Amino acid sequence: MDQRNLSDLAGQLDGSLQRPGDPEYDAARTIWNAMIDRHPALIARCRSTNDVVCAVHFAREHNLLVSVRGGGHNVAGNAVCDDGLMIDLTLMNEVSVDTMASSVTAGGGCTLGAIDTASHAHGLAVPAGIVSETGVGGLALGGGVGWLVRKYGMTCDNLIAAEVVTADGRVVTASATENQDLFWGLRGGGGNFGIVTSFQFQAHPVTEVIGGMIIHPREAARDVYRFYRDFTKQAPLELTAYCACLTTPDGTPATAIIACYCGDPANAESTLKPLREFGSPIADTLALIPRIEMQTMFDAGFPYGNRNYWKSSFVDELTDDAIDLVVEHANRITSPLSALMIEYYYGGPSSKIGETDTAFAHRDAQYDLGVIGQWQDPAEDAEHIEWVRSAYSALEPYSNGRIYANLIGVDQMTDETQLRATFGINYDRLVTLKQKYDPTNFFRMNQNIKPF
Ligand SMILES: Cc1cc2nc3c(=O)[nH]c(=O)nc-3n(C[C@H](O)[C@H](O)[C@H](O)COP(=O)(O)OP(=O)(O)OC[C@H]3O[C@@H](n4cnc5c(N)ncnc54)[C@H](O)[C@@H]3O)c2cc1C
Repeated sequence: MDQRNLSDLAGQLDGSLQRPGDPEYDAARTIWNAMIDRHPALIARCRSTNDVVCAVHFAREHNLLVSVRGGGHNVAGNAVCDDGLMIDLTLMNEVSVDTMASSVTAGGGCTLGAIDTASHAHGLAVPAGIVSETGVGGLALGGGVGWLVRKYGMTCDNLIAAEVVTADGRVVTASATENQDLFWGLRGGGGNFGIVTSFQFQAHPVTEVIGGMIIHPREAARDVYRFYRDFTKQAPLELTAYCACLTTPDGTPATAIIACYCGDPANAESTLKPLREFGSPIADTLALIPRIEMQTMFDAGFPYGNRNYWKSSFVDELTDDAIDLVVEHANRITSPLSALMIEYYYGGPSSKIGETDTAFAHRDAQYDLGVIGQWQDPAEDAEHIEWVRSAYSALEPYSNGRIYANLIGVDQMTDETQLRATFGINYDRLVTLKQKYDPTNFFRMNQNIKPF
């Protein structure tokens, strides 16, 4: 690339163009998972939709591999490429709230925390994930589950409209009335069809929740998981709860039920009573708290800079045998930062949407099983990766063979069978949509749906 072309691009951007050695280059290419250490030739730090359009045209003209960075939390590292052009959306982080319509408009590079802060100030909440530094871009396009999922649905199901820069550099709107096919694909199809520069979401009136953790000793794990399974099945939709084998900060192996009740606090006691009275917990932090506090409760457990290797899949039934295996492998955990997590999503509005109504197909998913490997020392990579692989493969017979796009592991992402399992019944329709919106596979640093 000659210098004049680069200067032209830099001159067109409201943001900036970063090259190796430039002041913001290293910070911009550093993403959440420290295992990913890639070096793009160029980083376009975009501030506006026009910046994104210019970057797309430039990459096309120069035949560059493109990666798109939202919040940089994709564990497989799709946000950053080697040698190509990274289109960094992190400066596109404005949020506006329409209180009359109860809707929230967020820039394509917003974190969940930015959306929470702005919407909470108006007594509103957009259903999204559980760690505030996660980007809404990747999360919403792949689905988006969190503490409000059973009551108000997935993030993608609360999407009203999106502004999208397509692979040929056009700016289009996708909604229920415009480019409906693209709107269908954006709700679960990941970043395959374009760069979303702005999302508009439906928000809901949630300001306070009863949330926190009930922590049991690890020895009680089998009983805790059995209780969790039976308790969540009959719980009202206002309650979403996950159950994890983890290690407490003081090094104690434990099993925690993490719960969030978003209904009227006056009705919470009868719902939460069995949870609070079960077994002999070592801690109970459940309390009435601002929702925004719930949204940051787990940030410290998932900091930038740790090394991460995850695998996950959906599970239909949490049988006693599956629970025994979860506990067996949790007891062999190799890092105190790792965890085995079961998340129950079922029953709410997202479960009632047809599996072909949006690109997200797994509407009858009951549980997600996540094997989360996290550690700090690169010298320990092999040991911790091996733990994740062996726990996941032992539990695989209990999986329903389908995978949540947002939690797909790096190995799963490059395996055609696993990618099909990610998009399920909608895979072929997504290929047709990809042929229409991105026939050359310009956007391929993602859970890639190949057009050919
Ligand atoms: C600590 C942690 C907690 C998590 N918690 C949850 C959770 O509670 N619920 C849940 O559902 N998921 C959760 N996830 C998974 C998360 O949804 C995915 O990792 C998601 O990809 C993150 O989005 P991002 O924008 O931060 O990621 P990035 O790495 O920036 O992007 C991920 C993918 O999306 C594409 N992309 C990002 N933004 C855009 C955009 N605006 N337009 C087009 N393409 C875009 C990227 O190109 C890339 O392919 C969590 C992940 C982590 C690491």
